[in-house]
Amino acid sequence: MEKIRLSLNIWSQRNLSLFGRLEIVRTLAISRLIYLLSNLPSPSNDFLEEVEKVLLNFVWKQSTSKIRKSVLKSKKDMGGADMTDLKVKDMSLKIAWINRLMSLKGCWKEVIVKDIPIDDHEYFFRCNIAYKDLPMEINNNSIWTDIFKYWCKHSFRTIEYTDNFQDIMNSNIWLNSNMKIGNKVVFWKTWFEKKIKHIKDLFNNKTNSFYSFNDFIDKYDIKGNILNYISLLSSIPAKWKTIIKQHCNDNVPYEPGYRDNMLDTIINCNKSSGIIYKLVVNDHNDQPYDRFVKWSSDIDMTVFDTDLDWYQHINEWYWCTKSVELRSFIYKYNMRFIATRKYLHKIGKSNTALCLKCNSEVEDIVHMFWGCNTMKKLWNNIVIWINNILKINIAVTREATLMNIFEIDITYEPLFSFVFLVVIKTVYNNKESNHQITTQGIINVLKKYELIERKIAIKNKKVQNHFNKWLGLFTLWNQNM
Ligand SMILES: [Zn+2]
Repeated sequence: MEKIRLSLNIWSQRNLSLFGRLEIVRTLAISRLIYLLSNLPSPSNDFLEEVEKVLLNFVWKQSTSKIRKSVLKSKKDMGGADMTDLKVKDMSLKIAWINRLMSLKGCWKEVIVKDIPIDDHEYFFRCNIAYKDLPMEINNNSIWTDIFKYWCKHSFRTIEYTDNFQDIMNSNIWLNSNMKIGNKVVFWKTWFEKKIKHIKDLFNNKTNSFYSFNDFIDKYDIKGNILNYISLLSSIPAKWKTIIKQHCNDNVPYEPGYRDNMLDTIINCNKSSGIIYKLVVNDHNDQPYDRFVKWSSDIDMTVFDTDLDWYQHINEWYWCTKSVELRSFIYKYNMRFIATRKYLHKIGKSNTALCLKCNSEVEDIVHMFWGCNTMKKLWNNIVIWINNILKINIAVTREATLMNIFEIDITYEPLFSFVFLVVIKTVYNNKESNHQITTQGIINVLKKYELIERKIAIKNKKVQNHFNKWLGLFTLWNQNM
């Protein structure tokens, strides 16, 4: 913990953007924790929260957070900023152990696997069992407790969540918390060895009903007790029986359900912890839907009666540039974390809420980037410039300038997103000065970013991609104004 604090302290002297600081969190702080989290019992919630506090203080430069941490921790494609969620990280590193458990290597084999009542460990991990129902004892406060706790928590599905015919038929009979007898999960070894494993093994496809006891013992060649068989059948939840009855004539091919999918991922993938992390991190966190609602009302469209996919939309805007500084800015802008006079006045950091440039209206986001007279002029010039050169006809609208939403189909869309982003950023950078921003001024800034991106492209050997992206802009600024 001290080491993390120290290394973050060194970096906090540097003037980094939001995404720059998040990258430092990932590479410096989180990488130190990964070894510990994957090899030792899970630390207490208090500890993880304490670490998170240190990380967030660094991300927000020791001031209050501007974007909810539950939003920051979501993946980028869901409007988050990919800040590592320590609890989910811990969980996915622990679940990834199951692959090692199943491949049966290493000395821990004697410690834990011998207690698992089923030799077929893969079957065991597909069992759908709640942690409290596990039939073996696990050392308390050992890493094994965490592994099994997390696995059960994330793989267990209640009766309600298993409502697909194929999922039900392929459910394990043994050690299934949804099929208890006398309030306990059961495992009958001799039956299991006769390959009676899944609900479908109790079902007679010829009669479209469960086997009668006599047919059942005939088929599997076992000496069973009729009472056992009846109690097993009655342990199948009534809801499932109804679904089986309704769908047993449908001929649907089997598709693996949630738990099977997750286990297949763990078995087939070396870096399964990363994949598990991606699968679940959004469920544990929040989406910035409230931001979209605000933007929608600002640009006079309702968030509901448009087929615009906001998440994809802001994601595309984010990817239109390689500059970390611009990416940070556009993310903050989309999240409406913008120091307008209205906001600064509200928190007591400005003695007026009025716009510095026109001195007549309150400066909120819409005013700062669209409503102010100086802005209307700038947008007009920029759009005329683009329209003239590319022989197109974009209208200067509130939704185009503020949110990059165009009415017509445009071939150069990433390019416009980029130009508009640079305009917004330049306006923001100059918000405290009386400097008049001109089209030429914007072109100079665009050239600066082109140079930055060209250097990145050369370093990554992606010069052709760079050229393709900027081709339209080269045309733009090589022509006379
Ligand atoms: Zn103004």
